[in-house]
Amino acid sequence: MIIIVTEPESMDQLVYFTQRKLGDKGTARVWVYRGDCPACGKAKMGKPKDPKTGRAKIRAKEYECPECKHIIEKTEYEETLSAESKYTCPECGKDGEGSIPYKRKTYQGISSLIFVCEHCGVKIPITKKMKEKKPDKN
Ligand SMILES: [Zn+2]
Ligand SMILES: [Zn+2]
Repeated sequence: MIIIVTEPESMDQLVYFTQRKLGDKGTARVWVYRGDCPACGKAKMGKPKDPKTGRAKIRAKEYECPECKHIIEKTEYEETLSAESKYTCPECGKDGEGSIPYKRKTYQGISSLIFVCEHCGVKIPITKKMKEKKPDKN
């Protein structure tokens, strides 16, 4: 299966972006593009704007279409999107890419986006919050 992911040009296009170090040799960049309004299809859904300041309310629990004002609950909307990744596999060291639904699953007790290496099939979990392990002092 050939998956072609498109690297984002600007954060404005995205609802999520992260860059991670995975073990000793692995890295991953993960992003999620904003999706079109499912009601009118004319604009990208975004966080509703504060009418006073004109700024997006980033903590809002819903997304709004700037054209038709269609509103979707945050989780419902995000689960229709795709998370894309370019990574260097922490297991086999090869570069790969992939696309999965933007839906977190529990992996070893941590809510994660789970990519699968296209070369060796190892799971590459992108945890919700980075748990940094302090390097061993030698
Ligand atoms: Zn719309
Ligand atoms: Zn691999």
